[in-house]
Amino acid sequence: QSVAVPGVVGSGLRVPLVTGGTANYANLDHAASAPCLSAVRDAVDELLPYYASVHRGAGFASQVCTRVYEGARQVLLDFAGARQGDEVVFTRNTTDALNLLASAVPRGTSVVVFDTVHHAALLPWRNVRRIPAPETPADAVAALDAALGECPEGPRLAVLTGACNVTGELWPVAELARVARRRGARTVLDAAQLAPHRPIRLAELDVDYAALSGHKLYAPFGAGALIGRADWLNAADPYLAGGGATRAVNERAVSWTTGPERHEAGSPNTVGVHALATACRTFATRWEGVVEHESSLLSRLRAGLAEIPGLRELSLFGTGHDRVGVVSFTIDGQDPGLIAAALSAEHAIGVRDGLFCAHLGTKNLLARAGADAERALRVSIGLGTTAEHVDRLVAALKSLVAEGPATTYRQVDGRWEP
Ligand code: PMP
Repeated sequence: QSVAVPGVVGSGLRVPLVTGGTANYANLDHAASAPCLSAVRDAVDELLPYYASVHRGAGFASQVCTRVYEGARQVLLDFAGARQGDEVVFTRNTTDALNLLASAVPRGTSVVVFDTVHHAALLPWRNVRRIPAPETPADAVAALDAALGECPEGPRLAVLTGACNVTGELWPVAELARVARRRGARTVLDAAQLAPHRPIRLAELDVDYAALSGHKLYAPFGAGALIGRADWLNAADPYLAGGGATRAVNERAVSWTTGPERHEAGSPNTVGVHALATACRTFATRWEGVVEHESSLLSRLRAGLAEIPGLRELSLFGTGHDRVGVVSFTIDGQDPGLIAAALSAEHAIGVRDGLFCAHLGTKNLLARAGADAERALRVSIGLGTTAEHVDRLVAALKSLVAEGPATTYRQVDGRWEP
């Protein structure tokens, strides 16, 4: 059974239903993007009537939007546990924030990054040295220490990941930041996967920058942030050249402003930033509940997965390592793409399959796990996940492994379709 997607006229898409009547779709792909919090939707609704240009408008609506937009910077600083003097540049997402930092590091900066990380953290840098996948947290710390020790004199930056987007495992950020500091390096934390699950704590961990995305934090797409030290950002060329980033322009010269506006030329995404800040504010008071909810569902999920014959869980630091609600795996003899398609079409469960924009890392983990597939399945839980979703997934996997899909599927453009 299926129903047309509400409000998406003419899309031809239909939501698969397990039982008629209610849209009981189980979204187990929170690591990609998380659905909007109702507090975020309400905040956006409230702002929409005052939708107007920020900064330069003199009218009331412009003043409202300017206040909302500028006020959001402090919300993000608080959310990230930032230091006095840190600043927030609003970006489109984590990818944009890390590319902005890559464009702003002083000339000749040596960058060190683990090759297992998400492409957004792996690819933006010049002068980059890649560290092979570590096997334990202690290996990671020692490898970073050694790699930084081999960098030439001059500015250095270590790129860290908070939580792995493939396995959900938490990286030892505090220890990595400590060795980086000892080696005279700054650190940037890719907090895309960490931010929806655990506090970031920039000052406490002595990390210099963090990058995050609103759409993984239960706000809509289109707003993210780079948070951290102002000096490199103020000394760099503007990330975008245009209106809002300038102090003065004449026929011969341009002088650029300092502060976050230097990198935010063009009309900003005020509604998206308001949504992001609302999500951050909502999370800030609820950490205990978030961690408790997700930990209990994660245990239930992993206990269920452990009962599936031939299932191999991917892991960087060992399956006992602390992690957020993300699990990737293969099942011997099964095509992950076909399983993902059948979960969607026959069980109304959304998961992801592939290499998760971390090709080097995922391939390495597949090899380590002795998997017979070239891609993996990823299940990621979040605030809307229920025990019923988890149980339905486990039951569906068991039945797909034992009996195969109920209908036939064919490959269209590399994807399986019923
Ligand atoms: N880093 C990590 C760890 C991620 O999981 C993601 C998103 N999958 C990104 C960076 C990139 O985020 P965005 O697509 O929002 O730029």
